[in-house]
Amino acid sequence: MRPDYRFCPHCATALSTGIVAGRERKACPACGFTHWNNPAPVVAALVQVGELILLARNAAWPPKTFALITGFLEAGETPEEGIAREVMEETSLEVERTSLIGVYEFTRKNELIIAYHVIASGSVTLSEELVEYRMVAPERLRPWRAGTGLAVADWMRARRLPFEFVDFPTRTAPAQGTA
Ligand SMILES: [Zn+2]
Repeated sequence: MRPDYRFCPHCATALSTGIVAGRERKACPACGFTHWNNPAPVVAALVQVGELILLARNAAWPPKTFALITGFLEAGETPEEGIAREVMEETSLEVERTSLIGVYEFTRKNELIIAYHVIASGSVTLSEELVEYRMVAPERLRPWRAGTGLAVADWMRARRLPFEFVDFPTRTAPAQGTA
């Protein structure tokens, strides 16, 4: 639910703003529903195929902006199932192994990023959300200092790959690119 949500999802009464559990929140004066506005869990994958890492560009992003595969976790899924589903939906690749890189805040979008290193195989067919992809050698990754870029940086550090952060290219892309 978005922070600007105006009506109760249970009884359609207009929500009012007040202090609930120590913070200003929206709540329903009729049925007591509280809009907690918790961060949404997003799964992200640094997808390795053979020796290379797949980065993809979302249709909404500027040219040369390539990122990890990401998507919202669905109800009833484990994070590992969620990232395998997202990788299949977005790239048609089959996930063989997942290992957690880490968990990262993305407060700007009220999201929590759960990032995995994924070993995948198959041939790439992109979903309609993605317009192009690149296969990049791990040492050529250039993480952004936010969102999934922090996961890429941790992954590179763990492999003793030297890297430099690059500037975050857009206001909306939760990811990292390559030059
Ligand atoms: Zn209500």
